[in-house]
Amino acid sequence: MNQSYQRPRIVIIGAGFGGLAAARRLAHVDAQITVIDRNNHHLFQPLLYQVATADLSPADISAPIRSVLRGQRNTQVLLAEVTGVDTTRKLVFARDRADGGPRSVDEFLPGHGRQCDGADGRSAARQVGSV
Ligand SMILES: Cc1cc2nc3c(=O)[nH]c(=O)nc-3n(C[C@H](O)[C@H](O)[C@H](O)COP(=O)(O)OP(=O)(O)OC[C@H]3O[C@@H](n4cnc5c(N)ncnc54)[C@H](O)[C@@H]3O)c2cc1C
Repeated sequence: MNQSYQRPRIVIIGAGFGGLAAARRLAHVDAQITVIDRNNHHLFQPLLYQVATADLSPADISAPIRSVLRGQRNTQVLLAEVTGVDTTRKLVFARDRADGGPRSVDEFLPGHGRQCDGADGRSAARQVGSV
């Protein structure tokens, strides 16, 4: 086996619908995947109204990101706020909440909610096709 082989490093920014869908689609690829979110939980936003009307409790519509992705051996979850991305140098910058410093990557997938086009994670998941 080639000792110098390094698995591709992929960073997924945000663990919303898009980020989680992207992470799940990459569950079996030979890569080192890091999911970064500024919160430790995934929030199911479409049910926020039911929390507002006290039909559900906040715990019913959120789940710890680490437990959602616990079964994925190629994936780690990082609690940090992404502050910038340098696509030329392939660096993701994050404000330290658990583990800071620029993180060098081979690919990054923005899933931080900037593009909202549905609750099925289409925007970030679509980009998985280009990895
Ligand atoms: C009240 C409500 C009801 C809705 N109902 C529906 C519905 O019925 N049907 C439907 O299709 N859509 C619905 N939507 C829209 C749907 O929830 C969004 O389209 C969807 O959540 C977008 O997914 P996303 O992954 O792009 O972003 P999000 O789900 O918003 O996830 C973004 C993630 O990125 C993280 N993040 C953001 N910035 C950073 C950063 N700088 N660093 C680290 N992490 C970061 C956030 O913490 C979050 O976890 C609703 C939205 C709301 C608010």
